[in-house]
Amino acid sequence: MSILAVGSVAFDNIKTPSGHADNVLGGAATYFALAASYFTDVRIVAVVGEDFTDKHENVLKKRGVDTRGIEHAKGKTFRWGGQYLDNLNEAKTDFTDLNVFENFQPRIPAQYKDSDFLFLANINPSLQATVRRGLSGVKLTGGDTMNYWIRSTNSELRETLRLVNILMINDGEAKMLAAESNLPRAAQKVLAMGPQALVIKHGEYGATIFFREGAFGLGRHPFRAPALPIEEVKDPTGAGDSFAGGFMGYIASQTEVNREVIKRALFYGGVMGSFAVEQFGTERLQSLTREEIDARFQIFRELTHLE
Ligand code: AMP
Repeated sequence: MSILAVGSVAFDNIKTPSGHADNVLGGAATYFALAASYFTDVRIVAVVGEDFTDKHENVLKKRGVDTRGIEHAKGKTFRWGGQYLDNLNEAKTDFTDLNVFENFQPRIPAQYKDSDFLFLANINPSLQATVRRGLSGVKLTGGDTMNYWIRSTNSELRETLRLVNILMINDGEAKMLAAESNLPRAAQKVLAMGPQALVIKHGEYGATIFFREGAFGLGRHPFRAPALPIEEVKDPTGAGDSFAGGFMGYIASQTEVNREVIKRALFYGGVMGSFAVEQFGTERLQSLTREEIDARFQIFRELTHLE
C-alpha cells in the first residue's frame, strides 16, 4: 500500500534547552514521510526553492521516499524558526518565512493517482480539500490542521473535515475547533463535523483516539496510548508529524483497517514520535531499523500492560 503526503518541506532554526540547530531539514511532510517510510511506500508532494539541493532530497530518497512530487520553484524554501525554552510541549514561533510555500498549489503527478492512503499535513484547508477531491481512489485520508486555520478559515476547514477520515490534532486545537473546554465533549463535537475518528495528541503524555459510533467496528469507547518517558527530549519539532507517519504507515502496512489495527497504530505513532525528539531535526528518523522500532513498541506494551 502507498501513502501520499502533502505538506511543507522546510528549513528550520530550532532552540531548545539542549541547544540549537540552524537550517536543518524539516517540514511536516518531511517528518511524516521519513516516519512512514519504515512501514510502507511513501510519496510526497511539496514545493521547495533553489536552496534545496540533491543532498537534502537524498535524505528522503535514501529512505525510499518517492520525491517526484516535489516541485522545485524559483526562490527560497519555506523557513520556520521556533523555540521550546519554556515549554517542551509547545513551540513558540520566532519567524515564518513562507517563501515559495506562499503560492503552493499541490500538483499530483499522474504516477501518484493510485495512492491508497493520503495524509494532508497542516496546509490551507482549501488546498487540502482540492487534493482529496482529485484522488478518487484513496481508501483512507488522515489530516492535520492548526490554530491559524481554525481561526482564519473556519468554514473552509469545516468543508475539508467532511473529506477526512482520521483527524490528528492536539488537545488545544480540538478544544478551539469545537469551542468546548471539556476534551471528551470537544471530541464528540469534532466527530460530528465529519471524521470517523479523531486522534488527540497530548504531547509528552501520549494520544487518545475517539471514534464515531460504529466507525471501524463496534462501540465508540476511546483508547489512549502513552508516550514513552524520554529522559532528554532534545528537540520536540516534528513529533506530531512523526507520530502521524508511524500511525498511518502502520495502518497502511496491514491488510485491514479495524479498531485493533488502529489501536496498535496509535502505539506505533508514539514510537516514531519518541524517536523524533531524541535528536535535532530529522536526524534520528533517518537511520532507524525496523528492529529498533519494534523493540520500542514492545517497551510501550510493557509500559501499559496489566495482568
Ligand atoms: P510539528 O512539530 O509536528 O508541529 O511540526 C513541525 C514542522 O512543521 C517544522 O519542521 C516546520 O518546518 C513545519 N511548520 C511550522 N509552521 C508551519 C506552517 N505554518 N505550515 C506548515 N508547516 C509548518
